[in-house]
Amino acid sequence: MKKINFLLLAIILLACSQTKNLQTNIHSADGAMNNFINELMGRMTLDEKIGQLNLLTPGGGVATGAVVSSDVETKIKAGNVGGLFGVIGVDKIKQAQEIAVNGSRLKIPLLFGSDVIHGYKTTFPIPLGLSCSWDMKLIERSARIAANESTADGLNWTFSPMVDIARDPRWGRVAEGAGEDAYLGSQIAIAMVKGYQGTNLAADTTMLACVKHFALYGAGEGGRDYNTVDMSRLAMYQYFLPPFKAAVDAGVASVMTSFNEIDGIPATGNKWLLTELLRKEWGFKGFIVTDYTSINEMIDHGMGDLPTVSALSLNAGVDMDMVGEGFLTTLKKSLREGKVTQKQIDDACRRILEAKYKLGLFDDPYRYTKSERAAREVLSADKRTAARELGARSTVLLKNNNQTLPLRKGGTIALVGPLANNKANMLGTWAVSGDAQLSIPVLEGMQAVAGAGTNIIYAKGANITDDTLLAKKANVFGERVDVGPLSPEAMINEAVDAARRADVVVAVVGEASEFSGEAASRTDIGIPQSQQRLIEALAATGKPLVLVIMSGRPLTLTQENDLATSILYAWFQGHEAGPAIADVLFGNYNPSGKLTMSFPRNVGQVPIYYNYKMTGRPQPSDQAEAQKFRSNYLDVSNHPLFAFGYGLSYTTFEYGNIRLSKNEMRAADRITATVTVRNTGNFDGEEVVQLYIRDMVGSITRPVKELKDFQKIFLRKGESREVTFTIDAEKLKFYNSQLKWVAEAGDFKLFIGTSSNNVKEADFKLLK
Ligand code: BGC
Repeated sequence: MKKINFLLLAIILLACSQTKNLQTNIHSADGAMNNFINELMGRMTLDEKIGQLNLLTPGGGVATGAVVSSDVETKIKAGNVGGLFGVIGVDKIKQAQEIAVNGSRLKIPLLFGSDVIHGYKTTFPIPLGLSCSWDMKLIERSARIAANESTADGLNWTFSPMVDIARDPRWGRVAEGAGEDAYLGSQIAIAMVKGYQGTNLAADTTMLACVKHFALYGAGEGGRDYNTVDMSRLAMYQYFLPPFKAAVDAGVASVMTSFNEIDGIPATGNKWLLTELLRKEWGFKGFIVTDYTSINEMIDHGMGDLPTVSALSLNAGVDMDMVGEGFLTTLKKSLREGKVTQKQIDDACRRILEAKYKLGLFDDPYRYTKSERAAREVLSADKRTAARELGARSTVLLKNNNQTLPLRKGGTIALVGPLANNKANMLGTWAVSGDAQLSIPVLEGMQAVAGAGTNIIYAKGANITDDTLLAKKANVFGERVDVGPLSPEAMINEAVDAARRADVVVAVVGEASEFSGEAASRTDIGIPQSQQRLIEALAATGKPLVLVIMSGRPLTLTQENDLATSILYAWFQGHEAGPAIADVLFGNYNPSGKLTMSFPRNVGQVPIYYNYKMTGRPQPSDQAEAQKFRSNYLDVSNHPLFAFGYGLSYTTFEYGNIRLSKNEMRAADRITATVTVRNTGNFDGEEVVQLYIRDMVGSITRPVKELKDFQKIFLRKGESREVTFTIDAEKLKFYNSQLKWVAEAGDFKLFIGTSSNNVKEADFKLLK
């Protein structure tokens, strides 16, 4: 006994001394950083301090905001620049770093940022697509690979992850996010931050992440980009802010403000948002950067002139001004006039220097600019292999009548559609460093995967759109909508002729890549008319019709769903789109993607999301026809065409009933919920088992269900597995009307299933 006690004491002492050592190490590391920065700031002039708050882009790209940067070299030498973005390639970045390190008085190295959004030069599926994998390890790996490739090419800061929750597919930037759900969005935010930043920012292969756009950018009125937002605090806390909080808790190094207003004050000048919430309530320790010229844009918001909005922004808590140079040109005077304080400038400068210190740039400013590493890592074969895997795993099977898919090899396939043999659109939006010409389109992918024994007849069939104005807008970054010599009728005839000669038709249709992304909102989110006509003509041949749809947003597919035999939603998959899609079409990979945004039947249903509230006059959900004086539409159901969490497989999964470990719990207890999932079809496959909870009665109204957990499992055909979830009080909590995070005693429903609208259910109680 004595011996055991002694052992226990020894273990406790050892553990304490280790914790102490760890803490001392952390403190001494912080101490060393603070000493270094104190000493450096002691030597900095006011101008040099303000200079650190300035992020410029030397141009060459498209100016999306109010201004572009000029005289960048002179400004760097004068110590007027803290970081650059839009400089791509290891040699150019090295050159720019040399200007800072050799040419400026204090030799402070620069940050080099970029929008590494879905891969870097090797381009991966758009984030909305990748989110449909529901595979956190995979998503983390995608960010890890992107960090590895982009840091090898000189970058040390990515403007990602974009975690804006969005319930409106008209908004083009849904392509960059993870869809409509706060819980899933939070898990993805964490995975991305971990992937980019790793465990040690000073490693050569890790970079600063930047969570954006803080906040509520996805809730612009009418789905129009940059538009006004007006939202209750409850909705913010419950649905829109959680992924940001999750990223902050995961240690994200920087936060980017959004363009929109919140409670009448633009985010970039919103002290409640940036200081009260982000810094004080959440304890964010990194630095805050504005979005592109968003300080200057507050002039147009009607918040005052440039000195006023710049001071407003610094006072609100912004540390770095992207491109607009409001800080650079006005803060000194504002300080003299007492509109900002020296401490605010010092704090902002310190935060930028801390980021540089943590990256190890003061030890070695050329840490990320080693040409040999760039030559080895950029566009390496292993990254393309990963791109192919990520593509296949992002694909969502929406319909598959008569098991038309997977396609059998051999025979004749008509491959038609404007996106079937089209490199220019494979990458999707925000692939700023990706070279579209390196993409493999579906035609090549299918030829390679199917092999010589399969006859593939290709015809374009239609232009992406015949609307010249839309085409012009989609072509701002190069030709995305190409219009060939054939008339629309001649193209359709050619495609129909190919279809008649084939056993099965695969039509690759959808949007041009720039139909989504920034400043790419649409009010009509259907497949463009030119392609609708093609689909109708193909369906009329009576041949099995497989639609492969590329898009950056959920589209309204009611008519296509009626006409097609099978629908595969591919999003934009990046460089390996062709092989990845072919892998899925021919069954090398059995699709397992699940939608992360609801697909409306028509645009009039928007905003549409699965976690809606009951009204006082709910429409009975099993009611086919709308009832008078209930909350519904005269002309269309309340429900989406394809629900959140939905996605088929080539195999089928059967869910047993839910078994609860008990039906009542106290706040400190847990309940486990178990279901048996069986693969009842003919293929091995993966399934995303989803757990939703509904709080039946609350002090405020609660949604009909909310995602609380999920597990992605692999089952061989015939195999079954017990899947168990643990329910604790944390899963039952929500923000009450005082914005307190609470669980309230009462009745709950628990749902487990294959999508938000196909679940088993069970009841339990939380006791007082
Ligand atoms: C976008 C940001 C992006 C920034 C820099 C802005 O227009 O809103 O998401 O990071 O430009 O490219």
